[in-house]
Amino acid sequence: MIGRENPGFAQTVEACMRTRTARCHCGQLEIRCTGEPRKISLCHCTDCQRRTGSAFSVAVFFSRDRVGSARAVTRTFVRESARGFPVTFHFCGACGSNVFWEPQRLPDLVGVAIGAFADPDFPRPQQSVWTKDKHRWLELPHDMAVYELTPPPRRAQE
Ligand SMILES: [Zn+2]
Ligand SMILES: [Zn+2]
Repeated sequence: MIGRENPGFAQTVEACMRTRTARCHCGQLEIRCTGEPRKISLCHCTDCQRRTGSAFSVAVFFSRDRVGSARAVTRTFVRESARGFPVTFHFCGACGSNVFWEPQRLPDLVGVAIGAFADPDFPRPQQSVWTKDKHRWLELPHDMAVYELTPPPRRAQE
């Protein structure tokens, strides 16, 4: 649209508004996230351990209006978060990868699984939550914000 008429301007916008693709294992579920994440959070809770099959999860939160182009109809699973608000997890019905989720407590945000970007250069998490359930062998970066449970609520922002 803008790009066709004014390629120079489009390049500038593209540099500022980087688009990243998150994709399931088989490729049938794909979403595009524009711009930079609002927050990246590493979670050690036992629900995330069971959900991912890994020792922890890393959630990349984007503003809802920056996430689009869902390629396939997803299957969903709803569970309560630690604070008692439902979270809807979207996963691929073919391969089962959990690509993104919608936390009802933070309705303007969408959580995306960092691994779905398959990008070793992806920005690192700023915080680590539920560290009481952290696997003992895992060493966290010394400058990461660490919370035994969850960070205190930020009423002004979220
Ligand atoms: Zn799939
Ligand atoms: Zn968790």
